[in-house]
Amino acid sequence: MSKRTKWDTKGDLDESKNLPIYQHKATLQQAVKDNSFLVVTGETGSGKTTQLPQYLKLTRNNGKIGITQPRRVAAITVAQRVSQEMHCSLGREVGYQVRFDDCTTQDTVVKYMTDGCLLREILADPVLSQYSVVILDEAHERSLNTDILLGLLKQTLSSPDKASKGRSVPLKVVVMSATLETDKLSVFLGGCPVFTIPGRTFPVTSKFSCAIGPKDTESSVYIKEVVKVALDVHTSEMAGDILVFLTGQSEIEKACDMLYEKAESIDYRYDVQDHKVEGLLILPLYGSMPTDQQKQIFQPPPPGIRKCVVATNIAATSLTINGIKYIVDSGFVKQLNHNSRVGMDILEVVPISKSEALQRAGRAGRTSAGKCFRIYSPAFWEKCMPEYTVPEIQRTSLTAVILTLKCLGVHDVIRFPYLDRPEERFILEALKQLYQCDAIDRRGKVTRLGELMVEFPLPPGLTRALLQAASLGCEDLLLPVAAMLSVENIFIRPGHPEKQKEADKKHRQLGVQAGSCNDFTMLLSVFEKCKASDAPSAWCKDNYIHWRALKSAFSVETQLREILLRLQKKRDFPMEKFDGNKSELFRRCLCTGYFTNVARRSVGKVFCTMDGHGSMVHIHPSSTLFDQEAQLDWVIFHDLLVTSRIYIRTVCPIRYDWVKDLLPKLHEVDVYELSSVAREEVTDEEVAKWMTKETAKRQTEGSAEAV
Ligand code: ADP
Ligand code: MG
Repeated sequence: MSKRTKWDTKGDLDESKNLPIYQHKATLQQAVKDNSFLVVTGETGSGKTTQLPQYLKLTRNNGKIGITQPRRVAAITVAQRVSQEMHCSLGREVGYQVRFDDCTTQDTVVKYMTDGCLLREILADPVLSQYSVVILDEAHERSLNTDILLGLLKQTLSSPDKASKGRSVPLKVVVMSATLETDKLSVFLGGCPVFTIPGRTFPVTSKFSCAIGPKDTESSVYIKEVVKVALDVHTSEMAGDILVFLTGQSEIEKACDMLYEKAESIDYRYDVQDHKVEGLLILPLYGSMPTDQQKQIFQPPPPGIRKCVVATNIAATSLTINGIKYIVDSGFVKQLNHNSRVGMDILEVVPISKSEALQRAGRAGRTSAGKCFRIYSPAFWEKCMPEYTVPEIQRTSLTAVILTLKCLGVHDVIRFPYLDRPEERFILEALKQLYQCDAIDRRGKVTRLGELMVEFPLPPGLTRALLQAASLGCEDLLLPVAAMLSVENIFIRPGHPEKQKEADKKHRQLGVQAGSCNDFTMLLSVFEKCKASDAPSAWCKDNYIHWRALKSAFSVETQLREILLRLQKKRDFPMEKFDGNKSELFRRCLCTGYFTNVARRSVGKVFCTMDGHGSMVHIHPSSTLFDQEAQLDWVIFHDLLVTSRIYIRTVCPIRYDWVKDLLPKLHEVDVYELSSVAREEVTDEEVAKWMTKETAKRQTEGSAEAV
């Protein structure tokens, strides 16, 4: 059957009265009235996210109802759903705001948004005077921004002076959580009441398999296995939809391709146990998917067709899909972690926690008994899966958040009320990074530059480079690059080997045409070429570029430009002069922000980072500089990918000269010695000074490997 079948779905909108939360409407309205803080908990799918804001809208005092979500897809999808339920067009009474996409108007009363967006609003208006109620949803996810919002709102509301300043009626805060950590939340919020929405769930039987053991972390292995298991379920189990948990967009697309292919050859007369099942509808679900495709996920399949949704962790609690009876759990999740080996945050595929696995399984038991098929072994469960997921605040870089706190006047970021305190060394690391990019001074006070930086929803290094470019009058070079780095990957690499070759060839050609000597200019060139094209979507198709991603990059660029223009108009914007060629100017601006990501080639294709970790890294095969390593010496890079090797991605060659004055900032202790390095050519002894004995040793081993 076709992938894009449309069917009638009217009718399910009235279901809201059947949701467990409905019977508690009045009690909840009253509880919010009576308390500054309220914790609400209930099974996923009980109606918290979609219904509570609608109930509170009826009893509000003028202000808006704001609901935060840790994930942008959730904010968008739920807003769409609620606007349908309320019979209004999206962006009017009900709207959403996520980074770089504001779909609200003057009329918007119920506003879904990411937690990052609310944090930005607090920067501009600390008492959130436009809101009567703020709902922090999915608090159990423990996202960095939600945790910070909890601390900030606790601080604001517990100081009556602060809380009432600029407000006519007091702000109400509701914290919603799908799991049981509610006592901890209540204690944190001064012993506020906890409202539990009773609901029933049905038993789910879970089965382990032997396919994935403690050593199988290659994506090709678990993708193949989930596909096999999903097809087994389809052919041997009774009717009911399937939900497959995988790790990310590319894995999901691969799995869907394999499923389409294999499902084609099913003979429904002989192969399928339940004769009522006559087809399989395969639907992907991940963060950056087009919204019209996302809508299909929620629609019941046509009669006789089994739906199989292949999703990221978003389907674990944020979004509830009705009709799911079978779960296929890969046991993995893609997570941003601070990697102490390389000293940076990296998106990694890691085993899920046991509590997460239970949550995933639970999705099969909402309306009747269900089954969960785990593709991993009991040994994997015992040895590889932690009990609980570590909150993001304890495992990722705090740089952007600490700058926001400082700009909000929270000077003592160590004693800020954190729900779970991050390790002090992470806070110190963030302060060091902020100092390195001139956002704070030696006393920890926000600088003028820091005040400008906090306005951009970008990583601090990139913002620093952009501001440098702006102060030199060449923002046109950096704005498109910043935009391109803020959207999903724009280069398409098809699964089919022939097509893959062709795509690689096209991308190489684009690089040559760009006269491009690095990946940043490549991004700039693709941006400009497509923008100048008469038929941009056809141009993209022809060159294996994601048109949708590029379209969002255009919009992001405009928005970043607007922020910059506003800042340039309002304040005494720093200006400098530069005499040199454009390519050098561009790369020097990048150095200002990316000098923390510097590497130098040691031997063969191996580079060594200069940030004190001295990691041995390789240029990623997707780079325009791949296979040209022999001609390179010093490079900067945008990010790292860690597999069995550490790869650097989005790479640009630079001259040591351009970073030599900046590098001492990475090693304050070494400042004195380094000030004596004045030549462009650096001797190996000088480089060795950057490295500890340990990393020097590793370098020798790395060299041996490369030879
Ligand atoms: P909770 O927040 O308690 O987990 P929700 O409010 O998200 O619950 O979901 C309540 C019901 O609304 C669920 O049955 C879910 O399937 C349905 N629902 C939510 N979003 C959509 C959507 N976009 N389309 C169709 N149904 C939806
Ligand atoms: Mg919810």
